[in-house]
Amino acid sequence: MSVALLTPTNTRVRINTIFCLGQNYAEHAKEMGSSAPAAPIIFLKPSSAVIGNGEDIVMPPGSLNVNHEVELTVLIGKTGKNIPPAEAYEYVAGYGVGLDMTCRDIQLEAKRAGHPWTIAKGFDTSAPLSPFVAAGTVPDPHALEITLSVNGTVRQHSTTANMIFRIDTIIAFLSTIFTLTEGDIIYTGTPEGVGQVRSGDIIDASIGGIGSLHHRVH
Ligand code: MG
Repeated sequence: MSVALLTPTNTRVRINTIFCLGQNYAEHAKEMGSSAPAAPIIFLKPSSAVIGNGEDIVMPPGSLNVNHEVELTVLIGKTGKNIPPAEAYEYVAGYGVGLDMTCRDIQLEAKRAGHPWTIAKGFDTSAPLSPFVAAGTVPDPHALEITLSVNGTVRQHSTTANMIFRIDTIIAFLSTIFTLTEGDIIYTGTPEGVGQVRSGDIIDASIGGIGSLHHRVH
């Protein structure tokens, strides 16, 4: 699996590890019945979950409640370990729009049982990703309007200013535990307004200055 990095030479980058943050917007944590986390909540998606803009999202067997979550995504451009927050942006190659499609029923059952979220978060087509725009073209990744609509009705609308853990803190935190590598992708969490999609629904998501996604739910 690879993603496009929109530069003058339009390179493609092979996807390595996909890190995701849970509950990184206070209003979303609240709608999930939680308070804002004291430390970043991290889970992973397999690279096989990635689809490109326009490809169908296929609901997996065993879930009756698949949810949309729109997120700013960060593409890592070089290897680093124990990265100081002040140097974190040097490791960012680009920014994109991602959907963290989630089987909410399977996730809630896993939470109750103390089991991992892997099936709920990592099924095939659960990680739609736009092409990434080069980091140098984004003056402030924490001043971006983030929106998702289903069948033309706005469901999520916020700003990346509302993230609890900001990108420099996330990169510094992750790199104390994991060696970050070119091709790693970070899903930075979703704002409030998550909800169910059904077969035939059309999802449109966009982040100002970054890009957009258009998907049909199969
Ligand atoms: Mg999410």
